[in-house]
Amino acid sequence: MINHKLYIHNSLTRQKELFTPIEPGRIGMYVCGPTVYNDVHLGNCRTFTNFDIIYRLLVYLGYKVRYVRNITDVGHLLDNGEDRLAKGARLNQIEPMEVAQKYTVGFHEMMRILNNLPPNIEPRATGHIIEQIELTEKILENGYAYVQDGSVYFSTLDFIKENPNIYGQLSGRVVEELLAESRENLKNQDTKKHPSDFALWIKADDTHIMQWNSPWSLGFPGWHLECSAMSTKYLGEKFDIHGGGLDLKFPHHENEIAQNYGGCNSQPANYWIHANMLQLNGKKMSKSDGNYIMPYELFAGENPLISKGYSPMTLRFLTLQSHYRSTLDLNDEALAAAEKGYLRLMDAAKLVQTISSPLAAGGTLDPEINQLLTEILEDLCDDFNVPKSLSKFFELATKINGYANGQIEPNAISQDAIERIKTAFNEIVFGVFGLLDESGTNGSSASLDLIMDLIIDIRAKSRENKDWGTSDKIRDTLANAKIQIMDGKEGTSWKKL
Ligand code: AMP
Ligand code: ZN
Repeated sequence: MINHKLYIHNSLTRQKELFTPIEPGRIGMYVCGPTVYNDVHLGNCRTFTNFDIIYRLLVYLGYKVRYVRNITDVGHLLDNGEDRLAKGARLNQIEPMEVAQKYTVGFHEMMRILNNLPPNIEPRATGHIIEQIELTEKILENGYAYVQDGSVYFSTLDFIKENPNIYGQLSGRVVEELLAESRENLKNQDTKKHPSDFALWIKADDTHIMQWNSPWSLGFPGWHLECSAMSTKYLGEKFDIHGGGLDLKFPHHENEIAQNYGGCNSQPANYWIHANMLQLNGKKMSKSDGNYIMPYELFAGENPLISKGYSPMTLRFLTLQSHYRSTLDLNDEALAAAEKGYLRLMDAAKLVQTISSPLAAGGTLDPEINQLLTEILEDLCDDFNVPKSLSKFFELATKINGYANGQIEPNAISQDAIERIKTAFNEIVFGVFGLLDESGTNGSSASLDLIMDLIIDIRAKSRENKDWGTSDKIRDTLANAKIQIMDGKEGTSWKKL
């Protein structure tokens, strides 16, 4: 039984709407996953963490959620038209599938470190070529695509003629603007009729290592097509929520919608959720622009923009502190504040386990506490306002601290209220926010502490002697053992990941 009303800002209507699932109690949610041609940067991590929190909340509210997040391992082209995976394979002289495997494993590892739950289904684009060909055939049959020299293109003009109010609805761009926009023709796509047309299937040239047989040519599917095909396969022609980063709104999601209408005559998702960008130096974090920090650099403090290493949970806490629809600036000051906030919250979580009240119920502060607890859930159900609900936990923390140090008298808070606070910490702070208490995981065993002191000492000596072989070996071995060493102004510290 779901007894909380949930409001979601729907990108499609640009309004906050009461969420009503297609099937009572069940939610189908599709989130665009990573393109596995290199390691995820902190920007990607922010989006995946935001959707993890949304997923966790939906489950907490009692919904049975089918969460599908894909792996893009073909078709996502660079600006020069080269397939990202094929480029990775060419540079490293390995198979594209080896590139995909390497970075999929790395992606999973980073999601685990950040405590993001795995989706229920994680389909790969290359495992769904047949579905993509079938969808292309349907779009062709319905007259919204054309074949040109072995490639298949979606005809935006034919689509707009038949469905005047669909194309451009999500991105808010007027059709004239979309059509006037003359983007550069990508490699292998110079045969399309109109600049705003996009490829469903691309004929591969001889140098292209990834190609499959199709009715039109040996080739490969377009990037947008995979998400239409895989969401339809696992969630049906119409499902509840479709999510992704804001930068995917256009063209990726706009084209996805057009394809779903073109093939199945239906808007795929009732609610579209877009997570805003993580910024660095006032600009979107992006690998291709060189404006990025990698997660391991952040953990190890190995980047000139940060003064020391910050832990995975500090990063998660920073994510919690901003609304998913706002931009977030990554900088040393914000990270230091997040670290402080995270530690304070964890202290409160521990402290609440130790306090007890002589009064079973009816403390004078109980109504205030109950109000805060109610608001925490209301905030979360108000378009996932995590920062607002987080601030209520700090108000609770102030009360817990006051109670523990005697500033608040024993009868002010009842045992009943203490139990409710404990439950809220367990279910929301750890369950929905997905925070982990790192203080218990950095090797509290005394012997490990001693061994680590010794290793850090040997590493420092080897660095002094410019014995980089030894110091690199120590770092790599520790990384394999999931131990991160961090060099900061106050010396070297370590942490179990
Ligand atoms: P990609 O691997 O490029 O397809 O991106 C994976 C996900 O990360 C997508 O949902 C993107 O929208 C998202 N993303 C990319 N850059 C950023 C950023 N700077 N901040 C937040 N999310 C991002
Ligand atoms: Zn997608």
